[in-house]
Amino acid sequence: MYDATSIDLEKIGVSKVTRPITHIILHHSATVDGRTYSWPAIKKYHMDKGWKDIGYNLGIELVEDTVKVLYGRPLTMNGAHCKEDGMNSKSVGVCVVGCYDEKAPPEDHWTQVLRVVRKVQECFLIPIKNVHGHHEYAPKTCPGKMFDMYKFRRDLLVRPIANDILTGTLNIAGAVYDVEMKLRKIG
Ligand SMILES: [Zn+2]
Repeated sequence: MYDATSIDLEKIGVSKVTRPITHIILHHSATVDGRTYSWPAIKKYHMDKGWKDIGYNLGIELVEDTVKVLYGRPLTMNGAHCKEDGMNSKSVGVCVVGCYDEKAPPEDHWTQVLRVVRKVQECFLIPIKNVHGHHEYAPKTCPGKMFDMYKFRRDLLVRPIANDILTGTLNIAGAVYDVEMKLRKIG
């Protein structure tokens, strides 16, 4: 299950941003996503290195039985997640807690990442072609060998999510499609 409540980017100061934000960079934590919070541990790890805050602006993590959206470094500060190509100053860094080198992200994680990325796209008018995995800039596997960025970008374009109709970000056709997919799964 994913937390379908609306995503509040004001928690990372979206209205106070004055520099252009043109990209979204996806990451994984490369750690196992257990059912307890890893986000504070990641934050501590980054701050122990002398950083001002957690490196990422947003996170997605399974907590108990729900895939949640977590809020990180305010957008009023440069990020600390992808130094290549000036990305720390012009992108939003989204970290999916878990390791996706061996297995693809579970469906609820995938859905939550789609919701978060769409919300950020809407706020800054970021085109799908500017949504990238960290590995598209740096010699890493991040957000994981099994996190298919081509599929992700395609899903951004075509895959509706029913709950988002409630938050006003998608149309009725999307909701119908999503319910149909759920029904097909049930059989
Ligand atoms: Zn990364």
